[in-house]
Amino acid sequence: MSNNQVVAAGAAPVTHGAEVPPPPLPTPVVPYATPVGIGTQAHYQVVWSGRELMIPDGASIADRCVRCGDPSDGRPFKRRLSWHPGALYLLILFPGLLIYLIVAMFVRKRATIYVGLCERHRRQRRTMMAVAGGVLLAAIALFFMAANSTDDDLIRMIVPAGIAGAVTSLVMAMVISKQLGYPGRIRPPFVWLKNVHSGYPAHNDVRRESPVLITRKPQAAAQPK
Ligand SMILES: [Zn+2]
Repeated sequence: MSNNQVVAAGAAPVTHGAEVPPPPLPTPVVPYATPVGIGTQAHYQVVWSGRELMIPDGASIADRCVRCGDPSDGRPFKRRLSWHPGALYLLILFPGLLIYLIVAMFVRKRATIYVGLCERHRRQRRTMMAVAGGVLLAAIALFFMAANSTDDDLIRMIVPAGIAGAVTSLVMAMVISKQLGYPGRIRPPFVWLKNVHSGYPAHNDVRRESPVLITRKPQAAAQPK
C-alpha cells in the first residue's frame, strides 16, 4: 500500500492532491505519542495512561463526552489550557503573590484543545452554572445589605454568610471548569489531560489539522519551545 507511506516528524509532507484515508496506527501505543505525517495531514496518537489522556496541542477529542464517554452533542468546547509545575505555588508563600504571578506568566505552558459533552452532561453543566451564579448574586446582595446597614449584629451575621457564598461560588466555578478536563502537565506539543472519562482510550487516533476545529499548524506547534 503506497498510500500508507510514513513520513518522519518534521519532514515536509508529500502532497498527493486527493485526500488519503488514514491508515491504521500501530498498536500497542508507546509511552510518548509519535507524530506521523501522512499526505497533507498530521496524525497523532492519543495515549491513555489509566489516569491521564495524552493528546497533542490543537487536537479535538470532541466526538465523545469528556465526562461519560458517550457520543457528544456535536458542539465542542474550546479549552485554552495553562499549566506550570506545582512547586511554583511555593512562591506565593515566599516572596509573595506578585512575584509568583510574574514568574508563572513566563514559566507556564499553554495549549488549546477541543472537548465535547453529551446532552445530559451539558444540561448538568448549565444547571451547575446557574446555581453558582445564583449563589454569587446572593453573596453580592448580602454585601450590599451589610454596607447599607447600621445594625452591628446584623452586619456580623451577614458578612460571614456573604463570604461563604462568594467562596462557594468560586469553588463551584472551579469544579465546573475542571469537569471538562484539566492539564496534569503540558510539555509542548502535548497535554496530559486529567478528569477524562476512560471511554476515550478506544480513540487512539486524533486528526490534528481539521479545518473546522484546529487553528494551529501542526509543524509550528511541534517545534520545541
Ligand atoms: Zn456525558
